[in-house]
Amino acid sequence: MDKPAICGGNPIRDTKIFYGHQYIDEADIQAVVDVLRSDYLTCGPKITELEEKLCQITGAKYAVVCSNGTAALHLACMAAGVTVGDEVITTPITFAASANCALYCGAKPVFADINEETYNIDPANVEALTNEKTKAVVAVDFTGQSVELDRLTEHCRKHNLVLIEDGAHVIGTRYNGKCNGSIADMTTLSFHPVKTVTCGEGGAVLTNSEEYYKKLILYRAHGITRAPEQMEHEPDGAWYYEQIALGMNYRLTDIQAALLISQLNKLPAFSKRRKEIVKAYNEAFLKLPQIIVQKEIPESDTTRHLYILRLNRERLKIDRKQFFEALAAENICCNVHYIPTYYFPYYEKLGYKRGLCPKAEKLYEEIISLPLYYAMTDQDVQDVIGAVTKISEYYGI
Ligand SMILES: *Cc1c(COP(=O)(O)O)cnc(C)c1O
Repeated sequence: MDKPAICGGNPIRDTKIFYGHQYIDEADIQAVVDVLRSDYLTCGPKITELEEKLCQITGAKYAVVCSNGTAALHLACMAAGVTVGDEVITTPITFAASANCALYCGAKPVFADINEETYNIDPANVEALTNEKTKAVVAVDFTGQSVELDRLTEHCRKHNLVLIEDGAHVIGTRYNGKCNGSIADMTTLSFHPVKTVTCGEGGAVLTNSEEYYKKLILYRAHGITRAPEQMEHEPDGAWYYEQIALGMNYRLTDIQAALLISQLNKLPAFSKRRKEIVKAYNEAFLKLPQIIVQKEIPESDTTRHLYILRLNRERLKIDRKQFFEALAAENICCNVHYIPTYYFPYYEKLGYKRGLCPKAEKLYEEIISLPLYYAMTDQDVQDVIGAVTKISEYYGI
């Protein structure tokens, strides 16, 4: 049996591979250059073009692009009317922004536990935590696999809750044949460089509701309107505008919009390659008793943003930290998604305690995010599989 590099063997490869990396080609570069030579750096034609393209790709009626995925979540909560005294139910297995958006609005995040096989928020737990203070549910499509939208939608309708899908991982995924982004009340996207498509920093809110759309547009730009029918006073002249609500400056630039339009042209190719890599990983790891493969629900045709390696601790002599370090010694540089949000000192000071979501906490102890991105070569994929197999077998019981 091959010795792992961490105990003196040869590493599986000489150069490091990381868990994620953007893919930028000449068309992307040219798209940015073209904007730099144009009249508009922000609030120009590329914003409208991008919003139309997002609607066309996802089937959503309206798209509002903004400065990042966190801003998108904040805008969605504002449009939903989340305010002081409200509760917003979300999952702890996510990036902090999924809960922070409730805090921005003065509301209280309430953490629902996960389904232990899919790692997504458990609708039964959402139902149990709903009370008269609950205003919205922020459901995260963890790794890109859709949450159980049928059951969540039904519950939210029944209790008059706004269903916000944190779709930072979900672009390219379909639920029961429809693109995520065209189903929930609002779906937020992120275009950070580790996500499936990127424009450096960027985000969007997708919705089918005209009412939410109008609010999102208003809150994205200071709460300022130029539409006479929305004004309280008679316009003084052609220059006149009014601030009618308290909004933010969460605009995206045309430079970023052009880059994203170009990236979205590659989404089918990105999606296809990610699916191939996930398939290769799943096939290899299903053979290893030391590894647990994430359950895929038949409703979700998933473009995976993250690949989660879950360790079966009963079949291994080493823990997650040791496994992670053993992979790093093979030059496979991984990450962990996510530390449960309420573990953070900021949340501890708000009164959240460990033990709140036992399944999420157990998952956190057992997971490592493996490299998954478009530009990985077949050799890269084989190296990752080789390293995981070597370490699992060497330390297996
Ligand atoms: C990346 C991410 C966000 C935040 O997006 P930014 O664009 O980085 O602000 C929110 N939620 C989840 C689940 C994410 O992965």
